[in-house]
Amino acid sequence: MAFGIQRIRVSTSGEMLESTANAYLAWIGEQAILIDAGYADSARDIIDVANSLGVTITDICLTHYHPDHSLGAPGVARQFSCPIHCHPADRVDLEKLYESAIPKEILWQPMVCSDLIPDSSIRLGDTSLRILHTPGHTHGHIALLHEPSGILFSGDTVIPGGTVWIGPPDGHLRTYLNTLDTLMDVPCTRIYPGHGDLVAEPAPLILAMKTRRLFREQQILNLIRNHARSVDDLVDLLYTDTVPKDLRWVAVKTVEGHIGKLLEENRIELESRLHADHPKYRCS
Ligand SMILES: [Zn+2]
Repeated sequence: MAFGIQRIRVSTSGEMLESTANAYLAWIGEQAILIDAGYADSARDIIDVANSLGVTITDICLTHYHPDHSLGAPGVARQFSCPIHCHPADRVDLEKLYESAIPKEILWQPMVCSDLIPDSSIRLGDTSLRILHTPGHTHGHIALLHEPSGILFSGDTVIPGGTVWIGPPDGHLRTYLNTLDTLMDVPCTRIYPGHGDLVAEPAPLILAMKTRRLFREQQILNLIRNHARSVDDLVDLLYTDTVPKDLRWVAVKTVEGHIGKLLEENRIELESRLHADHPKYRCS
């Protein structure tokens, strides 16, 4: 039977860096799997699209726990009496988020099944989607691969035209770069990303995303060598003209991600432990 994909663009109302996110229905016959679910008010749209396609959602797979991908899931789960799956490493954060943001009457039990185990598969009609652990944006980030067609649902790991945000504590840059390397070896022909349009040529994009990170890293290393000492110094030098004031924290976290990687690789070191709140760095 034919394998269908329906993209559902959901608004993120300017709350996140991206103004829209994608949810996808992957279906065969009358069975569908929902991949990501947008904000809470996206549930209605997703249910409407499923109804108009005449499909029943049997599983909801979240690529990661972030609210622009996950808050719509309980409303959909309640409608279709289906489980919500995420990777075990994102489960605690997802449950915390649901407890704080989802009204009790909407939560559906079993709310979350932590059964998105890497290299296992989730059944869809006579085919299946393989779970790939793609950490870096969050620790439990996953992507789903339909092997017969090479279609990859990449979540926030690969995004066309933009940079994926990798900031601690969720993000880990070295892990993320390893994930990009892993994805280069995955036989994928098209990417359906968590934000933005379909990617028809995955390999050049994945390579460009990695190159951009390494270029930024080299810039940071050069600035530290030239006496930029702190995260604030680096943010001032790298982002002054490009990042509005209210998004400075994003730039700070991004630089912290780079600093973390350079420290782990012993390429920079702490200059002094005296001011723990405002650490200063130098090249090793
Ligand atoms: Zn995210």
